Amino acid sequence: MIKKIDHIGIAVKDMDAALKFYEDVLGMKAEGTEVVEEQKVKTAFIPTGESEVELLESTSPDGPIAKYIEKKGEGIQHIAYRVDDIEKALEELKAKGVKLIDEKPRRGAGGAKIAFLHPKATFGTLVELCERD
Ligand code: ZN
Repeated sequence: MIKKIDHIGIAVKDMDAALKFYEDVLGMKAEGTEVVEEQKVKTAFIPTGESEVELLESTSPDGPIAKYIEKKGEGIQHIAYRVDDIEKALEELKAKGVKLIDEKPRRGAGGAKIAFLHPKATFGTLVELCERD
């Protein structure tokens, strides 16, 4: 079901400052930023080999990323695994009794279909499934 680590989601307070670090210090190159309105988040994807880093900055003080940073501080917020067929993956997980945050996929950045599993079911890590063309 799982193909690879698609990306690692990192919550940051200041996207521009974080991008400066990744680009100027680490020499990586972001693919541009995108706002996902429903999630109240601005994202930037930074490809690195087979996977990517996803920087996440809240666009609103009541967004999920703002709340996450308030509680836990900046840092790794989720890990995303690539799947070929997200509907099928969710069905399989549901049949296995895995607690899901999203029973149905929603739209993520870059037109991906994404769904989150509940951290209680995954030993404390927020896991995202991600299907892309
Ligand atoms: Zn993600």
